Amino acid sequence: MDFLPVFLQLRDRECLVVGGGEVAARKVGLIRRAGGRVTVIAPTLCPGLEEWKARGEIAHRPLEFRPADVETFTVVVAATGDAGVNAAVSAAAHARHIPVNVVDAPGLCSFIFPSIVDRSPVLVAVSSGGASPVLARQLRARLETMIPAGYGRLAEMLGRFRARVGRRFGSALERRRFWERILQGSVSELVFSGREREAEDMIERELSGDGDSGLTRGEVYLVGAGPGDPDLLTFRALRLMQQADVVLYDRLVSPQVLDLVRREAERIYVGKRRDYHALRQEEINRILVDLARQGKKVVRLKGGDPFVFGRGGEEIADLAGQGIPFQVVPGITAANGCAAYAGIPLTHRDYAQSVVFVTGHSRDDGVDLDWGGLIRPQQTLVIYMGLTGLETLCRELIAHGMSPATPAALIEQGTTPNQRVIAATLETLPERVANSGVHAPTLLIVGEVVRLHRTLAWFRPA
Ligand code: SAH
Repeated sequence: MDFLPVFLQLRDRECLVVGGGEVAARKVGLIRRAGGRVTVIAPTLCPGLEEWKARGEIAHRPLEFRPADVETFTVVVAATGDAGVNAAVSAAAHARHIPVNVVDAPGLCSFIFPSIVDRSPVLVAVSSGGASPVLARQLRARLETMIPAGYGRLAEMLGRFRARVGRRFGSALERRRFWERILQGSVSELVFSGREREAEDMIERELSGDGDSGLTRGEVYLVGAGPGDPDLLTFRALRLMQQADVVLYDRLVSPQVLDLVRREAERIYVGKRRDYHALRQEEINRILVDLARQGKKVVRLKGGDPFVFGRGGEEIADLAGQGIPFQVVPGITAANGCAAYAGIPLTHRDYAQSVVFVTGHSRDDGVDLDWGGLIRPQQTLVIYMGLTGLETLCRELIAHGMSPATPAALIEQGTTPNQRVIAATLETLPERVANSGVHAPTLLIVGEVVRLHRTLAWFRPA
């Protein structure tokens, strides 16, 4: 270990930064975040530092650096871009045993700035000991994605209970057991999903020890799995998938996404094809309730977004009715995913000021849609579940007044390695599709914006 990681208390301490450029400004910003009072020594200041100076938030000495300048400061940073001045700052600070950092010169430093993940009061600091700051920053970025944004709020809340827990439990072992029980239960997730009051009540009940605190109760997470590409999951979706006891999924959830579910979790396929339902909706609803009652953390994974043509509302209605806790995690809906990956902006100043999502799911007596509302000018039409009824859809749109030459595209298995885009017109699309052996799922986009596909397409799987 070349450096000992420590956390410096700088609140209201006097700190010196030598240098007035952008690099110096970044260090000034960090020190100020920690509550330090900054003096900058530099002949001139960059605009950012000028602004802080104008607001009286930093002190400025528009002078050349002299060794005696470091004397009254708690820490010193050299960020001048002039190797001679930086070395002089380092020597002056070392001579007086004041911690000093010289930007990009680990050999001249007595301390270095780590990359930080800030979930105050929780802080994660990453350092490569000066060997590769870029590597440290990359690691930091990975940690950012793993540590929920609500971590700070969680830590703060737990901190408020610390003294009481200390009084309640005599031994360190008992205290640790208590905190482990709290953190393995539902408390963290309640805080992360914005239900801090409930989390606090739960800790209160657990502390007072009367009755069921609800700590180990089951919960259902209705999670949007996106259109296929696992990179399109949200951080929250991934986190919940990785702590699930059971996952219920259907055909639209890609195998790559399913792979990211905690390995030990039980997987239940609940099917749903257009014409064949492996399980009826009521059965799915009942399973969700039963599993949660058993104290399980249940992830109900749904393709795209759970609230867009996903019957997500129905699945949680039963849970809400029976008082089972749940949360809904949005996903990227097929319209957004397919449009982006096909290079078809859904709105565009020149071509479309509105966009409509409809389902083209045909019934026995044909497709029943509000045709008048669909054929407005300057509007993009996105049709889910439109493959079987494609011919009828295109015919009806033309019959109701849309030009046969209107651009239309069918996107097959959008955002996956099998993505294919068949771009044509309302008139020619059905035939083109009939001849291309298309596989579900597919999404239909109709409107002038489809023209942009030719120039904006960027995702081209092999
Ligand atoms: N809740 C989902 C939609 C479910 S309805 C969402 O928000 O995306 C199922 C329909 O979604 C399919 O028939 C198809 O039209 C569309 N769809 C879902 N994933 C798709 C994909 N990867 N490519 C093309 N269409 C897709």
